[in-house]
Amino acid sequence: MGVPTLGCTCAVCKSANSHDNRTRPSLLLSYNGRNVVIDTTPDFRFQAIRAEMNRLDAIIYTHGHADHILGLDDIRPFSMRQRSRVPVYAAPETLTTIRRQFSYIFDETPTESSLPSVELHAIDGPFELFDLTFVPVPAEHGAQPVLGFRFGKAAYLTDFVRVPESSRALLRGLDDFILDALRYRPHPMHSNVEQSLALVADLKPMRAWFTHICHDLPHDETNSRLPENVRLAYDGLQFEAEY
Ligand SMILES: [Zn+2]
Ligand SMILES: [Zn+2]
Repeated sequence: MGVPTLGCTCAVCKSANSHDNRTRPSLLLSYNGRNVVIDTTPDFRFQAIRAEMNRLDAIIYTHGHADHILGLDDIRPFSMRQRSRVPVYAAPETLTTIRRQFSYIFDETPTESSLPSVELHAIDGPFELFDLTFVPVPAEHGAQPVLGFRFGKAAYLTDFVRVPESSRALLRGLDDFILDALRYRPHPMHSNVEQSLALVADLKPMRAWFTHICHDLPHDETNSRLPENVRLAYDGLQFEAEY
């Protein structure tokens, strides 16, 4: 929902610490002169301005929930300037959701307004983008499937509550692991701090970054309680990863 959460006056929503300001979760990967984005949130435009993104070469989706896809329309300036279709990679069921939610992009009704120009690719295994291999990591987001992604020595896995053993095998030997940790209390669809710490203890990445954090977790205070190699991610966080 983002922090501050609309209508809320709790200490985190009212916090003066900029690290307590949280737009919806997404990731920008810049490598080989290319920009690949994982998820286009309702905050995509603002996030792209903040990151000074000057081009967009591909989009990868984790799943079709509104907080992860609704910024898709805002890619128009990139596809117009680059005069090419932006490749979009997602699981087949996520592509179905995108075709439905953004039917005006795909229904071929003549229009005088500009449309995001995309080409859809169904993920059915590891795929390569600009000389980097993305390994999909299936997990469970309540009853809904979700995909995390491993790229080199880093991985991004948001919106999950359970990671099957077969997927854990894909997440060993990481330098950086970015993962969902919504809050302390359990949630039927999201991993909480305790569950995410247990997953980190099992997978043993060098560093872990919690994301998809709600207003229950104050940035500084939560960090002070976490193990040294586990930190809350924050808006604008950047780091280098090996691939
Ligand atoms: Zn979700
Ligand atoms: Zn979400």
